[in-house]
Amino acid sequence: MTEKKNWDRRSFLRKAGQATCTLALGGIAYRIVGQHLDEETAGPRSRYVWQIDPDKCTNCGKCETACVRTPSAVKAVNDQKKCSCCVVCYGHIKNKQIESEKIMSDGERVCPHDAVTRKNFSGGKDGYFIYDIDHDKCTGCGKCAEACTDKGTKSMFLIIRPDLCLNCNSCDIARICPEDAIDRLYIGPEDDFKGIYELEYGQNDMNEYGA
Ligand code: SF4
Ligand code: SF4
Ligand code: SF4
Repeated sequence: MTEKKNWDRRSFLRKAGQATCTLALGGIAYRIVGQHLDEETAGPRSRYVWQIDPDKCTNCGKCETACVRTPSAVKAVNDQKKCSCCVVCYGHIKNKQIESEKIMSDGERVCPHDAVTRKNFSGGKDGYFIYDIDHDKCTGCGKCAEACTDKGTKSMFLIIRPDLCLNCNSCDIARICPEDAIDRLYIGPEDDFKGIYELEYGQNDMNEYGA
């Protein structure tokens, strides 16, 4: 049984990693690309984007309303490489004592728009779960990221989606951010947020415990 669970865990992490490239865009853009691209040598399609430094951001909530776009170009993401995939997630529901089979029906949601989704990957109702953010519902309030940062693994954080951002000359959020957490980064076209990704799971893996 333990061996089966360990295998499921490894399989899960491997497959989840395949879906992480776009989920971790904020981290990629800030932590990696920003350090490697040189304006002098980068290709002609390279450009500047506004991005949030997840190490400075305190999820204060201003990103939701300060952006010139409504809803905001800021969205939450969940880095699957950092997420513990727990039965109960701090960024998903508030009541941690709830029985696992009641989570989908009885749990009080952290997100005011119920944008944090939960799907079972393996191991039945007490197995491993994928937590993701529905960007059609997310308004960038940061509540899920705040809970995950305070009590979880810090896998949830806010990003500015380059495909939604108007790339204003002066970002309104950057001007009012109390943590000075927004910078302009130089990125290449290969680092654009794709917005759509597919988890390569079999239908049987996403079972009746799914969101
Ligand atoms: S305004 Fe700054 S600190 Fe507040 S949520 Fe946005 S980036 Fe984070
Ligand atoms: S809690 Fe806020 S930031 Fe998180 S998914 Fe919901 S609307 Fe988006
Ligand atoms: S640059 Fe403009 S559109 Fe982009 S996040 Fe800032 S205010 Fe919003």
